[in-house]
Amino acid sequence: MNSKELGLRLVDTMAKEKLADQIRANVVRSKEGESKKKQGTGLPKSPNSSAYVAPHRHCTICHTPIKLKRDPPICGDGGCNDEYENRERQRKRWNILLYVAPAIMVLALILPIVLNAA
Ligand SMILES: [Zn+2]
Repeated sequence: MNSKELGLRLVDTMAKEKLADQIRANVVRSKEGESKKKQGTGLPKSPNSSAYVAPHRHCTICHTPIKLKRDPPICGDGGCNDEYENRERQRKRWNILLYVAPAIMVLALILPIVLNAA
């Protein structure tokens, strides 16, 4: 083995060690992120605490706090009711389109093949 080869090996191991260091740093960082996630909102979980917030959800339109099991998730206000129905209708339209558009594309691909074969 000549000195040039030895030098290349040294550089190679150094690069590998650097990479290992970076991976170790990433692991530490991701663990830190996990522990932060576990802390949640930081609000007390006990109902006896003065800062306790009962489980609830918010009206999808005006974000007023409403009951957790409320379905549909709106506050019951007339304006919110109309807006919610509007959004639901639009959502359904989009859902239909999501299925219809690929179906049309598939048909456009298959139809010429079938017609040519006939
Ligand atoms: Zn509302």
